Amino acid sequence: MISVIFKALGTTNSIRIDAAQDQVAAEEAIQRAEKRVLALHDKLSVFQPESELSLLNAAAGCNSIPVSEDTMFLLSESKRYSRLSRGAFSISTRVLSSLWSIHARCGTIPSRSEVEHALSLVSDEDIVLDEANQTAMLARFGQSVDLGAIAKGYAADEVRRILLEGGVTSALINLGGTVISIGESRYIGIQHPDRLTGIAMGRVSLRDRCAVTSGDYERYYEVDGVRYHHIVDPRTGYPSRADIRGVTLIGESALALDAISTAVFVLGAQQGLPLIQDAGAEAVFVTRSLDVFCTDGLRDQFELFSTKSI
Ligand code: ADP
Ligand code: MG
Repeated sequence: MISVIFKALGTTNSIRIDAAQDQVAAEEAIQRAEKRVLALHDKLSVFQPESELSLLNAAAGCNSIPVSEDTMFLLSESKRYSRLSRGAFSISTRVLSSLWSIHARCGTIPSRSEVEHALSLVSDEDIVLDEANQTAMLARFGQSVDLGAIAKGYAADEVRRILLEGGVTSALINLGGTVISIGESRYIGIQHPDRLTGIAMGRVSLRDRCAVTSGDYERYYEVDGVRYHHIVDPRTGYPSRADIRGVTLIGESALALDAISTAVFVLGAQQGLPLIQDAGAEAVFVTRSLDVFCTDGLRDQFELFSTKSI
């Protein structure tokens, strides 16, 4: 068994190899995988002033900037998911996320006019990509993007690719809750939204697939008993008010699931279902009344522990 734990992409990441064709190749692979995630962090973090994404944001409305293949790919995939979700997934929501996080620090909520101003700057159609020249630009001054809703998915797919190329036959990848199990069935807990991290309402068995969760219980603050969490509805400018507390998607591509889970969290279970089906994914939903239900394809892999009263 070899494992690494490291911070990147705003979260704690772990990679554990349980079996491989060759021990030396597996050790090299795990090092390569960690380096790859750290390199993605350096390009994509909006908290590092020199990252490609920060440069893109700083040049909004002014000029285009050269971007790497990774950044170009993620920007173009994000635009695609924004269209597919009719804007529920929009990386340009960052203007709103920033507004809400400033208020979170003060324990206040933004005024209607602050929200409306930020809302007027949200449009993923304004992300202008020139694939031939490998440059990107945000069309309007004040616009800003972040890949927090999709980067971990892409990074997890990359880690899996690197491990498989290194002859790994059994492994568990966990990038801040974006999980891939290689080679063996492993259980993934469905977090209880109102209990300590690790207390699950049920579990799903996962093998050679990934699981991605979006929920309102990880990053949030409360004012006058109202919860404001970190996924913003780009149509209203307010933290999403869908009918679900959490959604876990199971499928092939972690990138696709990451984008779609964020969109479904905004759209709600019913409106989100076509996106899930089109991606060939399955889902477990936790509703506002703490009922748990899953799509038909998961019936044999999903186990409910008990009801809401845990
Ligand atoms: P987590 O990071 O908790 O796994 P998500 O994948 O759903 O959750 O991503 C949430 C992050 O994405 C937020 O912290 C913010 O940076 C960004 N974001 C918030 N709302 C949206 C949205 N509607 N579309 C795209 N990105 C968003
Ligand atoms: Mg996501």
